[in-house]
Amino acid sequence: MQYTKFTLSRATWPGLMVICLLITGYGFVKEQPVLFFNLAYLFLALSLLALERFIPHEPQWNKGDGQTFANIAHTLLSKGTVQTLVIFSTVIGLAALVTPAAEQGHGIWPREWPLWIQVIMGVTAAEFGLYWAHRIAHEWLPLWRFHAIHHSVTRLWIINTGRFHFIDSLASILFGMSILLLLGAPMEVLIWLSAITAFIGMLTHCNVEMRFGFLSWIFNTPGLHRWHHSRLLSEGNKNYGENLMIWDHIFGTYFNPKRRPPVNIGINEYMPPGFLQQLAHPFRQKG
Ligand SMILES: [Zn+2]
Repeated sequence: MQYTKFTLSRATWPGLMVICLLITGYGFVKEQPVLFFNLAYLFLALSLLALERFIPHEPQWNKGDGQTFANIAHTLLSKGTVQTLVIFSTVIGLAALVTPAAEQGHGIWPREWPLWIQVIMGVTAAEFGLYWAHRIAHEWLPLWRFHAIHHSVTRLWIINTGRFHFIDSLASILFGMSILLLLGAPMEVLIWLSAITAFIGMLTHCNVEMRFGFLSWIFNTPGLHRWHHSRLLSEGNKNYGENLMIWDHIFGTYFNPKRRPPVNIGINEYMPPGFLQQLAHPFRQKG
């Protein structure tokens, strides 16, 4: 029984990822990648919500914190709006400008290589921008004020995955996507990057008991991200990777000690409780 439990807890993260990637891949075959990505995302959300009930990592994180409405409002109105606007206007507009140049052989992106290699390259290259956008948001006060909204929660569960101020979302999307656009990556790579980022993002915030082993050396797992939400700066200003940990290894911010990550997470500064006050809060601070 113990052995089965151990195996299950090791299989959950890679198992859910593989199912979501297969559903999205099937969408590419059927030429409806966005629809199938959304189906995969819904499947992941429902699976994790159920697992959070049955096998929570921290049972006390299942108790209400009064932030559920604010979390959903940030996800839909703040992060969601930015993502939709950026994807449907700037990114696709820019992609249309950049990618034809690449198609005629002027770009440096190797479009003739197998798609799976291009996706690995794309996720790794974009990660460089995502890593620095995230690290600057922690280390530079004017941007930290926006990112603090994400870190002000006192529990991790899937509903605060998308709790980001729109300025924070905009900065990371621009940092991550612009690298791929400048290199001339095709739209399929951008869609795969968006899908992988969405799946890994929801998994990193879930309150499900799992084990990761060597996966935490390569990918951003919930085990690593719980350290990133620590109140202690020596633990929290680590593990900036969005999907991969490669740049944390290279720039010396990888942190994965053997002990259990903290239960008492959050920030040590004031954050108003309401959604609209939270949106206005970074603009009101001086100095
Ligand atoms: Zn952060």
